Amino acid sequence: MTPSSTWRTHMCGDARAELVGESITLAGWAARRRDHGGLVFVDLRDHTGVTQLVLNPESAPEAAELAHGIRNEFVLRAEGKLVARSPETVNPAMPTGDVELAVERLELVSRSTPLPFQLDEENVDETLRLRYRWLDLRRDKLQRNIRLRAQMVGIIRRDMEKAGFLDIQTPILFKPTPEGARDFVVPSRLQPGRFYALPQSPQILKQLTMVAGFDRYYQIAICFRDEDLRADRVQEITQLDVEMSFPDQELLFELMERMFQRIWRECLGVEIETPFPRMTFAEADRRFGSDKPETRFALELEEVTPATRGSELGVFARAEAVRFLRVPRVFSRGELAKLEELAKEWGAKGLAYLVYDGGEIRSPIAKFLSQDELAALGGGEGETLLFAADSWELTSRVLGALRLHLGRELGLIDEDAFTFLWVNDFPMFERDEDAGRWTAVHHPFTRPTEEWKERFPEHPGDALAHAYDLVVNGNELGGGSFRMHEPELQAQVFDLLDLSPEEQRVKFGFLLDALAMGAPPHGGIALGIDRMTMVLAGEPNLRDVIAFPKNQAAVDPMSGAPSEITPEQLDELGIQLLEVT
Ligand code: ASP
Repeated sequence: MTPSSTWRTHMCGDARAELVGESITLAGWAARRRDHGGLVFVDLRDHTGVTQLVLNPESAPEAAELAHGIRNEFVLRAEGKLVARSPETVNPAMPTGDVELAVERLELVSRSTPLPFQLDEENVDETLRLRYRWLDLRRDKLQRNIRLRAQMVGIIRRDMEKAGFLDIQTPILFKPTPEGARDFVVPSRLQPGRFYALPQSPQILKQLTMVAGFDRYYQIAICFRDEDLRADRVQEITQLDVEMSFPDQELLFELMERMFQRIWRECLGVEIETPFPRMTFAEADRRFGSDKPETRFALELEEVTPATRGSELGVFARAEAVRFLRVPRVFSRGELAKLEELAKEWGAKGLAYLVYDGGEIRSPIAKFLSQDELAALGGGEGETLLFAADSWELTSRVLGALRLHLGRELGLIDEDAFTFLWVNDFPMFERDEDAGRWTAVHHPFTRPTEEWKERFPEHPGDALAHAYDLVVNGNELGGGSFRMHEPELQAQVFDLLDLSPEEQRVKFGFLLDALAMGAPPHGGIALGIDRMTMVLAGEPNLRDVIAFPKNQAAVDPMSGAPSEITPEQLDELGIQLLEVT
């Protein structure tokens, strides 16, 4: 694409053999300069590529003189004739490697101070990269990631609008909208002593757009969640947020599947298969020990609880669940010790094993197991069985994590595959033992399945929600649910979550009022744009798909945010700080 402007006639990536003989002007950054006894070579870069400039002191003395002072990342404008390189200087590794620009006029547009790191340097400390993010973003990988993200968002917008969804902006200064994290709050100057909360998602607001008759809503929304950060978590999440009235799950799934298909096709040239397989939460938990199963490899969890009920081995006999992984190889003692170490990190008390090696069973527990138990396990030559015996939940956690670890370690994962999957029929509530009450697994606006609608208050721990998650390669991309449009049902759920009628009024009175004024049935989904880009780009670091992320301590090393405010600002807000550490 030729961007003819007063600055340049072509982009640096345009320089090709077809243009040889033409006078062109390029503008960009000096990526490298080499002085060769008289001739000076400069690699000029913009986001489309790199063109080699040649400055010859005989034909362009002024330009060559200026070129000696060029340092990396100076901004230059170069006019000249594109020429073919002599055969011995052709660089086949560069798309523009068979041409160069014989510069006639050079303009030094902008200088750069010495760089804190070179753009082609590997393993630069992340804090330094974030501190100088504008430089970091000039690097190929980040240019690619951020452009991929923009391309993806473009496809999403086109797709959603084609399907009749309306982009409606919802406020950032709002009231708590719970998604299970802490709120970020903003003090109000005009209403001293009062605070806005930044929405953890536009959940309530998008439901109100349905009550308001908009029928199909979407937004690329930023959601704020004050959580402790982990490698794959940020506090400002960008979501594709979607809601529809008179919802039809098949329609919604199909719409999303088609959108993913288009994104993968247009961004990666990869065809993904639809419809995506579906799995209930119970099945995912049973087979993979996870609510976001990585299905690019098998190594599924197996269970032997019934066969070990009367076991001589106390830990097996007493455990709520005895489950194991059947790994198709034999491990040494040292390897097993390392695996046990990991299992303990994930909460196991130990890691029992049976190694079927050379016609024998290597294991400290084998002598306690009866013939029936061994027969139930069905171990074969060359296999190792790794056990977890504990509560069901813990066996899922430990073996689920161990399975992922082994999948990676043993190279079982097909790295080129994308296995999309819907997980549905989630539990509706979980017990918060510390607080002694029920909490919503998804969020408190999710409706029970039809089957549980009448009886969820009697058996909250068993009740299922009409909720679904979308998973790819073991990453949860997002999820959604059908909502309660009946105010009585919503209030019943609030009751179960231990919200007093007064609290319900104060926190969610406006929602209950809205539901009482002709609310259509509705449901939707939200998908994490950051995660989607990570998977699309094959990028393991979430921060590298975000232009200006914060670090793991939620600080922006570039601007220094969060920063202090002046005593006058505090006064205006009516805030007194107890202590500043
Ligand atoms: N608001 C939910 C979330 O942010 C998604 C949804 O239920 O649509 O996870």
